[in-house]
Amino acid sequence: MRPALSRLSLAATLALGTAAALLSAPARAQALDAAGLQAIDTAIQGVAAKMVRWRRDIHQHPELSGQEVRTAALVAQHLRQLGMEVQTGVGGTGVVGTLRGGRPGKVVALRADMDALPMPENTGLPFASQAKASYLGKDVPVTHACGHDAHVAMLMGAAEALAGMKAALPGTVKFIFQPAEEGAPVEPDASGKVPSFGAKAMVEAGVLKDVQAIYGLHISSNLPSGVAGYRSGPLMAGSDNIHIHVEGRGGHGSSPWAAVDPIVAASQVVLGLQTVVSRQLNISQEPAVITIGQIQGGTRYNIIPDFVEMMGTLRTFDEGMRQDALKRITTTAEAIAASSGAKARVRFGPVAYPVTTNPAALTEASLPALKLAMGGKAAVIPKVSGSEDFSEFQKVVPGFFYFLGAPPKGKDYRTAPPNHSPLFDIDEDQLPVGARSLAALAVDFLQRP
Ligand SMILES: [Zn+2]
Ligand SMILES: [Zn+2]
Repeated sequence: MRPALSRLSLAATLALGTAAALLSAPARAQALDAAGLQAIDTAIQGVAAKMVRWRRDIHQHPELSGQEVRTAALVAQHLRQLGMEVQTGVGGTGVVGTLRGGRPGKVVALRADMDALPMPENTGLPFASQAKASYLGKDVPVTHACGHDAHVAMLMGAAEALAGMKAALPGTVKFIFQPAEEGAPVEPDASGKVPSFGAKAMVEAGVLKDVQAIYGLHISSNLPSGVAGYRSGPLMAGSDNIHIHVEGRGGHGSSPWAAVDPIVAASQVVLGLQTVVSRQLNISQEPAVITIGQIQGGTRYNIIPDFVEMMGTLRTFDEGMRQDALKRITTTAEAIAASSGAKARVRFGPVAYPVTTNPAALTEASLPALKLAMGGKAAVIPKVSGSEDFSEFQKVVPGFFYFLGAPPKGKDYRTAPPNHSPLFDIDEDQLPVGARSLAALAVDFLQRP
């Protein structure tokens, strides 16, 4: 992965690389070059073994969204040891470390999410999770099946590397360790609302004050090893939760004419909703997805129930198409239900993730540093229909998000268990690669005029 980078000693590289690349006079501000990258790389290699230990420790002690107490404490202690100004309890269990460079300049943020998922782990790893927690009133197994353990370890590594270059840094780096990316930590209240969580809660707590750009990555087992996958413009879908209550009138299963059957009406609504994307949206502009993933109704084979509840998700890549789809879902469900004398009540939320969009200007400006840090291994990838609340940061400041390919050693990225699989695993050799790319993007942003 790093054939071009020679293995100079830390001292030698800091003397040569850092001095040459980072201590240049402010008037000579310029993008990150090979010498600058080499200084970063040497510092990252110095913490590579620690990143593996952190990742395994966090992996073995996963915590659900909003419950990242142990992880947050580990992060805060590390950032304090590095001499940073540290804020805890930001937007819940969030932690923010501020590294003020020795020279004045811009402010850039790097972000990692910290939460795990309510699901079992079947990887058989020696440090596999045995953890349990309470989720929506049930005891559930907890697993880092989305790789956020790796994100935390990489950002802790980048923090240590950049803290070692503090004197030469032309500006400030904020290290944002975010809770609750995977979803709301609590169920909606009686009015169907949930308090802000995750990135949104951190933004509301003022984490982006003075920040001029933010960078973040997601590890993926389904990209070739050591490759950064990116794209300019919409990268990941916006997501809206769909709730549909189909109200009929209960009765005996033998006499449907004396009732209004919400099960048949709901079935027609499910099929009808599939025509919103296929027949009503201009999918030559952007793709879209509607999935109904949950249907509940009835108690017994011969009773027509009073109502059916359905839940689903809408994924879009364009705000105009999203608004259009929301209207059409409502109209389609209401009209189909009405045709049989039932009534559909449609609502969305309680949370919606915006589209994760990489602004063209920031993408273009950041690409040379990303490619340099990845040894040229960066590629445009197709849009991803998953969602990310990194998009909440991007609503406030320009932000660049990318994927890091890290399938487990010996596994083909095309068939490796994906994120959110109980078999999900990564190649820990990519931890320094990810950390180096984050540090490089931050330094490059600060150095660029
Ligand atoms: Zn996830
Ligand atoms: Zn994730």
